[in-house]
Amino acid sequence: MRWLVHGLGESGLCAARALLDRGEKVVVVDSGDSQELRHAAESLGTASRLGARPEVLDEGFDRVVASPGIRPRDPLLAAAEKMGIPVLSEVALGLELLEGEAPGVRVAAVTGTNGKTTVVDMLARMLSTAGVPHAVAGNSWRALTGCLDEVKEAGTLVLEVSSFQLHYLHRAGFDVAALLNARPDHLNWHASFEEYVSDKLSIFDGQGDEDLALVNASDPAGRGVAGRLAAETLVVGEGGTLVEGGQLLLRGRPLAGTSELPFAGRHNSENALFAAAAAEHLGATLGGIREGLLGYRLKPHRMQVVGERGGVLYVDDSKATNPAATAAALASVEEPVNLILGGSEKETDFSEILPHLDRCRSVVCQGEAGPRILGFLEENGAPVDVFYVLLVPDLAAAVAETRKVARPGDVVLLSPGCASFDQFAGYAERGEAFAELARVDAGADAAARGAARA
Ligand code: ADP
Repeated sequence: MRWLVHGLGESGLCAARALLDRGEKVVVVDSGDSQELRHAAESLGTASRLGARPEVLDEGFDRVVASPGIRPRDPLLAAAEKMGIPVLSEVALGLELLEGEAPGVRVAAVTGTNGKTTVVDMLARMLSTAGVPHAVAGNSWRALTGCLDEVKEAGTLVLEVSSFQLHYLHRAGFDVAALLNARPDHLNWHASFEEYVSDKLSIFDGQGDEDLALVNASDPAGRGVAGRLAAETLVVGEGGTLVEGGQLLLRGRPLAGTSELPFAGRHNSENALFAAAAAEHLGATLGGIREGLLGYRLKPHRMQVVGERGGVLYVDDSKATNPAATAAALASVEEPVNLILGGSEKETDFSEILPHLDRCRSVVCQGEAGPRILGFLEENGAPVDVFYVLLVPDLAAAVAETRKVARPGDVVLLSPGCASFDQFAGYAERGEAFAELARVDAGADAAARGAARA
């Protein structure tokens, strides 16, 4: 079989290595051409074509492996599909290799617009505390094809899958498949919201009645298919698996009180229920699940308190790269909020945050998308005259502005609803810059007070 691996990032390199290790014929291609890519290609010791165009397919390939960042509209992928050459994602390749080499491995797959990383992380922790061996891979974790031996050894895989990875993955038949939510995002990658939702729903394809499907009562996409899935379907947020009377209930049994949880926000309680239901299906005991839950800490840049000054808390939710995540953040804060929105432009609809703006003392719009968001808030009935809405060029100016309006007892919340690439290399760099600005501002303030005294 002749394979073409398209895209020389981490997952492309792992996919190529996994195939070469199994004696397959592999050509690696990338549409870019740089010193770094050259080194990466050379490290594999196989044929490579950099700066590749669709004509490379004329060399004759049986299958194409697509890296997650490559869109279906990409000319090479479009040409492959037209020529009838099967395209699969790196995750699909990993699952196919596992199926052939270790058919008994159980897989819990998690997808959704928001919460994937958190649910996977919570699930992994619950399995650890319950003593269930497992390996974690996919999307924001390591590439699956890079850790196949570890997965086989563990016997259970917790897999984070993006819609990109699902687009080129067919009928996986996961033991547990969870769709947390489907909200507008990444519409610059998918042809339409309908395609995005349909890719997300494909997580349930190939499941049988021994498997478990998890959907969210408040998500129209998942709720809509709940009665039609082949697997046992648990709707998180109704029946016995929900937050009720200050308790998290799993299939009617109390798991923990909300006041016991080491994190805030209804969305995180729901994340915990998804993780708990998956963990139980994979063999974790209720006691083990509870212990994992109570010891869980959110990962950085997700509602992380990064500073406190003059009674004002600075909260970094830089990972909120779409308005649905910002809405969840606003719903989980009780104090008056000074909200920083904006970043790179994905033309997403900010309607979802409108019902939550009443808890804001100020909203500062910044970055490339700042002017459009400000225009949207003004046009859509945000109470601009009641509170303070402002446009500034960048994050540094935004933090400086919030300092002027925030009062003791307030929160300054960076939950931008946009990706970060207009000013930063990624959400983590943006969050770190925010924490640093909060600190520097504090220093500048102290210096100013010192100068006044002198
Ligand atoms: P993902 O891996 O899907 O990007 P993360 O767990 O990294 O998800 O969280 C991304 C952002 O979404 C964070 O700002 C987080 O606070 C928020 N978030 C987490 N879970 C949910 C949820 N269930 N619904 C809405 N927003 C969420």
